[in-house]
Amino acid sequence: MKKFFGILILICLFFPGSVGAVSVDIPQGIAQGEPFWVELNSEKNVSSIYVKWMGKAVTYPADLPGTQKILLGAGLDHTGDYPLEFFFDFEDGTLSSKYTVSIGEKEYPEQRLTLPESMVTPPQEVIDRIVREREKIVRALNAIENDRFWSENFIRPVSGDVSSPFGVRRFLNDHPRSPHRGVDFRGPEGTPIKAMESGKVTLTGDFYYGGKTVILDHGLGLQTVYMHLSEIQVNQGEYISKEDIIGLVGMTGRSTGPHLHFGVYVLGEAVDPLPLVGE
Ligand SMILES: [Zn+2]
Repeated sequence: MKKFFGILILICLFFPGSVGAVSVDIPQGIAQGEPFWVELNSEKNVSSIYVKWMGKAVTYPADLPGTQKILLGAGLDHTGDYPLEFFFDFEDGTLSSKYTVSIGEKEYPEQRLTLPESMVTPPQEVIDRIVREREKIVRALNAIENDRFWSENFIRPVSGDVSSPFGVRRFLNDHPRSPHRGVDFRGPEGTPIKAMESGKVTLTGDFYYGGKTVILDHGLGLQTVYMHLSEIQVNQGEYISKEDIIGLVGMTGRSTGPHLHFGVYVLGEAVDPLPLVGE
């Protein structure tokens, strides 16, 4: 049996600009919790693009030659310099490039709440339930599906105003709690909720904090989360299209009034949804 060995040409460039035939445009001034687009331009045919960012990796099907955008996110819990690596597969070899992306600090508003201690610490059985549910949700949000179901034009799931923005730093009886990893939209109970983009329903459930919840996987590390629904109208495993109704606004779970908690995750990191779906 004959074996053929391809020759892999690997060129590493450690400065921004042109990588052989591909130019890489990374926006400046990215702050923690923000999504951002990296624009690629190539005159040559590229078959695939492998991207490494924040300990995750994703393979994009290439739309090159031409221009292509890569969606990434700066995690809410990370500031400072992080490496961003690209590997481009051409017909005649592979090119790699590595950049440093600086993530700046952002002052998110604070919210302080005081409650009787008995309401702050739930009983052990509830804590066990919360831990189990969090594991399920984190697993769903960290899955990376290699098919892409998204374009670059996302839609806002409901039209209501923002009642609580992304990133709010919450304190309960002066103890820091998890920051707000989504945006809350006002909406009367029963308002239909549209899918931000096409995708696969990867998780539905009725959870302690989030109440009736839907998670959609749009592929290539992009996920959306919809919480506190009064009714879920999709099934786990189902493929849905952009603007399909996935459920109705409600106040299930820990919620003081009807609203939609809407979260966008990129490669497992929560980012502010508003730059993607519009103020
Ligand atoms: Zn919320």
